[in-house]
Amino acid sequence: MTLDLLAVPLLRRSAIDALVPHLLSARTVALSTHINADGDGCGSEVALALLLAQKGIDVRIVNPTPWPAMFNWLLESGVRDESARGAAALREADRLVVLDISDVRRLGGLADAVRSLPVPPLVIDHHLPGDEPPGTLHVTDTTACATGELVFDLAVSMGVEITPPMAGALYAALMTDTGGFRFSNTSARCLAVASQLVACGVDPEEMYRRIYASVPIGRLRLISEALRTIEADFATGIATIEIEAGQLARHNVTPEDLDGVVEYPRSIEGIRLALLFRDLGHGKVKVSFRTLGTVDANQLARRFGGGGHAKAAGALVEGSLAAVKAKVTTVARDLLKEG
Ligand code: 5GP
Ligand code: MN
Repeated sequence: MTLDLLAVPLLRRSAIDALVPHLLSARTVALSTHINADGDGCGSEVALALLLAQKGIDVRIVNPTPWPAMFNWLLESGVRDESARGAAALREADRLVVLDISDVRRLGGLADAVRSLPVPPLVIDHHLPGDEPPGTLHVTDTTACATGELVFDLAVSMGVEITPPMAGALYAALMTDTGGFRFSNTSARCLAVASQLVACGVDPEEMYRRIYASVPIGRLRLISEALRTIEADFATGIATIEIEAGQLARHNVTPEDLDGVVEYPRSIEGIRLALLFRDLGHGKVKVSFRTLGTVDANQLARRFGGGGHAKAAGALVEGSLAAVKAKVTTVARDLLKEG
């Protein structure tokens, strides 16, 4: 039997067919993603921008936090980033598409502007449902390895040519959200789409170099300090790692440069839950949850007002680093005992 892995799944196809007319009727479209955009957010935005540009639509990116320097190369394709203009740039567009978000609060400083738009945004996402969805018209599928996989499906469904810059942006989305094609979301379809993107002109080694082999040296200095904070409790299977307020600035790195740091505690034999605590320095701590096996990271993150996926989730929690760490590990310990 030959499986057509590239065929767009049926339910996704009908959601896409319902979304497309709303995209094509706009003259100007704004694209947005979550605070501290990651490879999936940035890659999906750039690929969708290039897709819409092929259809003659004027597109701009408007994100709640500045475009990450590590993804500047994606903008060389000519896509406009107007994040610096904030909510005004959103309001000027006929339509907004929100990518890689299931809860409007993830839009940070743009959330209120998005809530009060005259036309609700379109949503393309692969997260588990959040408390306050950003829009009602959406293409959402938690079985998609990345939002980029859904943008690929949109391009295929619309019959748009996947140009090399689009393919590169989509490959960056898939590669980063699967941790370099290693995590549980690395489905057969994910690899089939990646293969198709290589056929469209992506050079995997160049992608590796751009994303994983172009880090600032400060990332390594910071990791060497953070590794010393790792605590592993083998009785419960929980390991933690900490990043203090000011540590990023001291090493001249940005939050995006921390991608993958939580994999160090997760990689320890016998650990089922890894927690990264990053003190933001203004009374809030960013917590990253990563699980192995059956522990539900999304359920745990939701207890603290966050969310995400079954095996990777996050939350912003109020309190000092020590207090948040104590609170989260206590809840996590109880949850793991129950399970
Ligand atoms: P990370 O820990 O790498 O920031 O995020 C892991 C996953 O959880 C990502 O899919 C991300 O979108 C989601 N996530 C991270 N922080 C939050 C948060 O504060 N709220 C919600 N709802 N999701 C989050
Ligand atoms: Mn994603």
